[in-house]
Amino acid sequence: MVQSNRRPSSDRYDTVIAGAGPAGIMAAREAAARGTVLLVEASRLPRNKSCGGMLHEHTQEFITPFGPVPDDIVLEPRHVDFRYHDWDRRIAKPTSVRFLNVDRPGFDRWLLGALPDDVELVEGCPLDAFAQDERGVRAILRVDGEPLGIVCENLVGADGARSMIRRALGIGSVATYVTLQDWLCLDGKLEPYFDCIYMRGVGDSFAYGYVVPKGDRAIVGSVFYPRTRRPHQKHDQVVRILRNALPQLGPRVDREAWVALSVRSRTDVVPGEGRVLLAGEAGGFMSPTSGEGISYALRSGALAGRAVAVSSPDEALGVFAASSMPLQRDIRRKLRWLPVMESEFGKYLGGMTPTSIVSAMTKGL
Ligand SMILES: Cc1cc2nc3c(=O)[nH]c(=O)nc-3n(C[C@H](O)[C@H](O)[C@H](O)COP(=O)(O)OP(=O)(O)OC[C@H]3O[C@@H](n4cnc5c(N)ncnc54)[C@H](O)[C@@H]3O)c2cc1C
Repeated sequence: MVQSNRRPSSDRYDTVIAGAGPAGIMAAREAAARGTVLLVEASRLPRNKSCGGMLHEHTQEFITPFGPVPDDIVLEPRHVDFRYHDWDRRIAKPTSVRFLNVDRPGFDRWLLGALPDDVELVEGCPLDAFAQDERGVRAILRVDGEPLGIVCENLVGADGARSMIRRALGIGSVATYVTLQDWLCLDGKLEPYFDCIYMRGVGDSFAYGYVVPKGDRAIVGSVFYPRTRRPHQKHDQVVRILRNALPQLGPRVDREAWVALSVRSRTDVVPGEGRVLLAGEAGGFMSPTSGEGISYALRSGALAGRAVAVSSPDEALGVFAASSMPLQRDIRRKLRWLPVMESEFGKYLGGMTPTSIVSAMTKGL
């Protein structure tokens, strides 16, 4: 596995990638075919990304060439099926959409193992600023609290939902959901489902909640629309309601507060500008309907890295924009369903529709 360093060994690279999440790791892996690659990560590794750690079938398919996912990062139950709940009407619709249940920090560590040895990885090193012109990109990194200038042919912004690189390009940021996730001890077994829950009593700002068994723990999560006030109080309410129905949910060991992209428009997806490419959540690559982001990050990251590897620095963005078109189309298609899914009518319809049809539709969303 690639060793991470505390500072870059050079001041000049072919490609610099900011963010060592799934998008950045895949971009670095592919871009290494062209030449020198520096992958900088703002956090210390292993980083902890608040996440359900549910690997969608698309993710499972994407990672197949990397070999089997090691058993020590797969949690019990190994697979969970997506189940839709209309809580107030006591309707549950199990589907055949099956997720691999992993420990997210362990998964990210395993992905880092897919990097070729010649990728230089520097942790605790945020990219603070950059400027581009026809000769390339000049970037300022923060190393041990001090600014350090480097130059590169292409920069890949894979810096997540609150991408500084996207904002600096002036192409507008994407609104974000507020997410809260409690890790609870489990006193007994939960059914092997990834339960997605709609309930009305929490108010209009509540998008949905979820419960997933994770080994001897369970996650109870809430997703709130952007600018929700007092999300912690509302999440407490969700947890209280779920505890009443699920006595297996034991004491809380941790609470994570994070954000996730709320993709609302086709213009939220932007592959970059000039010599700067945007991958993963930074580029708006995420499912608008399911909150599933890992497969989009992996796929868009790999495409961005491949574009850099096969084209000249000036042409890389055009190649990436074209190769990511199927992903962009998939996001647009899902966007058409979003208003229906979020409406009272859509939720009512979901409850009334035969389970086999809900299952088939969930496959495409
Ligand atoms: C609560 C929650 C639950 C979720 N559950 C699931 C799930 O079960 N399944 C699923 O598929 N998706 C899930 N997602 C979405 C998924 O986690 C993300 O879509 C995915 O991690 C995006 O990958 P990424 O590489 O684009 O960004 P990230 O994984 O966010 O990685 C970005 C990296 O960039 C680094 N960074 C930021 N700024 C800089 C900078 N200036 N310089 C250098 N580095 C920087 C960050 O430290 C971070 O490590 C969930 C999201 C949330 C919030």
